[in-house]
Amino acid sequence: MTDLNKYMLAIKHHEKAELRRLAEAMQGWPNKDAFECDDSWCVGSIHDGELYPVLEIQTQRYDQFEPAESMARFYAAANPASVLALLDEIQRLAGQVEALQSVPDSYQSGFNTKCLACGQHHAGLSGLPCPNMMPAAGGTANG
Ligand SMILES: [Zn+2]
Repeated sequence: MTDLNKYMLAIKHHEKAELRRLAEAMQGWPNKDAFECDDSWCVGSIHDGELYPVLEIQTQRYDQFEPAESMARFYAAANPASVLALLDEIQRLAGQVEALQSVPDSYQSGFNTKCLACGQHHAGLSGLPCPNMMPAAGGTANG
């Protein structure tokens, strides 16, 4: 299994479907910008210079003001449009992997490294002479 497959399986299909459904349900609520608001950081939108907060990060409640900005910026970056774009990219890449894995004897499907001469596997020696079939020692150039 390739590393890419592991990542694709990390988020199960039904979880991706649920994430897509939730992201699509969020349409119309702008939450793509992060900005300072009152004594904290907020997520929302900035339109014509006006701030429209829809989510306030309240880490200061726990005497932790420092993480508020990075949290707000992350939540703003992980907005529905970004999530939908990532899900679309995952779907596109999964299709590419599936297509590549259907090609026999390719990197993605696993090379067939079985040697026709000795029956062992010699990874990376495709097209080269079998290393187990070296000329016998002791022969002379003069016959
Ligand atoms: Zn061989």
